[in-house]
Amino acid sequence: MIKGRFAPSPTGRMHIGNVFTALMSWLSVRSRGGEWVLRIEDLDRQRSKYEYARQIEEDLSWLGLDWDEGGLDDIGPSGPYSQSGRDSFYQAALERLMATGYTYPCRCTRHDIMASNAPHQSDGRIIYGGKCRPATLPEMSIDMQAYEHSAIRLYVPDRDISFTDRVYGPQSYNLSRDCGDFVLRRADGAWAYQLAVVVDDALMGITEVVRGNDLLLSAAQQQYLYRLMGFDVPEFAHLPLLCNPSGVRLSKRDKGISMSEVRNSSTADEIIGRLAYYGGIIPEAVPCKASELVDIFEWNNISSDMRIII
Ligand code: GLU
Repeated sequence: MIKGRFAPSPTGRMHIGNVFTALMSWLSVRSRGGEWVLRIEDLDRQRSKYEYARQIEEDLSWLGLDWDEGGLDDIGPSGPYSQSGRDSFYQAALERLMATGYTYPCRCTRHDIMASNAPHQSDGRIIYGGKCRPATLPEMSIDMQAYEHSAIRLYVPDRDISFTDRVYGPQSYNLSRDCGDFVLRRADGAWAYQLAVVVDDALMGITEVVRGNDLLLSAAQQQYLYRLMGFDVPEFAHLPLLCNPSGVRLSKRDKGISMSEVRNSSTADEIIGRLAYYGGIIPEAVPCKASELVDIFEWNNISSDMRIII
């Protein structure tokens, strides 16, 4: 059974880039008779809002993108489908990872991390320099006291993690060089995205992950976690990000891309038609329904060198 998912963070209204991801993921599973899960990624308790999650559901339904499992009403057997209700699953996974002996407590402040970060990291990525990393990996025991008031980091090896992305082809990352030991749980107790997403995708039986190409490196971090925890690794398909007319990746600051604005000026069929055209599914941006695209959808039409200007 093919199972895909859409995993929005309810920190605001969806924008057209989120809808593009949702549409491609939905078409990918529907074109092969698979199922689609809607997971609410509300780990950031301060910025996430119930009303935004409801609005995401309403926008998806308006666009004709239906889900078989998930959402705020917890439809299906793998709930709850909001990350804020899944602490016990993350805790169990964390304990499993701690038992490997590959985790360690870290008391570095943001300032410590920035101070030891290589200055050439111009893309904003923060690479952990390993200040708190023990000289030798600890014994396989869980000394919870050592972790009090600390973030929990995961040791990453200095070797390549390779995988084939359905759109971007062969990928290879060295986590030690590209991100450093990463956080599983923050000092304030908040779960890290990397841990939560792997636990959820694995326990929800997700077989393919479709999302924006800004998460390609995360896919390598996640594959490391899948293997450490003994889970099956899903397939990954990362999508080119939509750009504004100056060729820069769309950001929330760009006018006219939020669903609140888009819905004022376009019908659902017009939006779907435009996005299907950007995704190379139809030759012209004519209005259509998502359900009409199921039989003609093909991954081959989407390539990593596409520049999608909207
Ligand atoms: N929650 C993430 C976002 O809204 C998506 C993460 C994922 O698809 O793995 O950007």
